[in-house]
Amino acid sequence: MANAYVSWASSEAARRAKIATRSRDTRPEVRVRSVLHRMGYRFRVCVQAVPTLRRSADIVFPRLRLAVFIDGCFWHGCPEHYNPPRTNAGYWVDKIKRNVARDRDTNEQFRAAGWQVLRLWEHIEPSEAARAIAVVVDRQRSLNRSRTVR
Ligand SMILES: [Zn+2]
Repeated sequence: MANAYVSWASSEAARRAKIATRSRDTRPEVRVRSVLHRMGYRFRVCVQAVPTLRRSADIVFPRLRLAVFIDGCFWHGCPEHYNPPRTNAGYWVDKIKRNVARDRDTNEQFRAAGWQVLRLWEHIEPSEAARAIAVVVDRQRSLNRSRTVR
């Protein structure tokens, strides 16, 4: 009885976590984009910034060579919110570890290709995330201006 309940509860928790992350995977980035857009920033969406890398960034400023990723707390192993499902725990630990390693590799490859990478957790308030992106964009723009003016 007890075991049956535990396995039901953990598979239920895993199922709910998966459903929640699936929707959360896209929604935070959409909200961040709409705030940024309202702030007057223009950017590209889901671009394979580095053509040889089949990994697309969520928000891309091509001229600034700035790629922004909004990372889902579950899939990217957020230290504050990642909670491995009890069912198939080994599978999930490996899966998330691989994702985190892949993120690190993506950062390195982007940087090697001359791109700046900005990663934000999906749990950051969209307006706050948009402000953080705006700060980097403004700084990069003024750097570019001072380079060209002189
Ligand atoms: Zn988080």
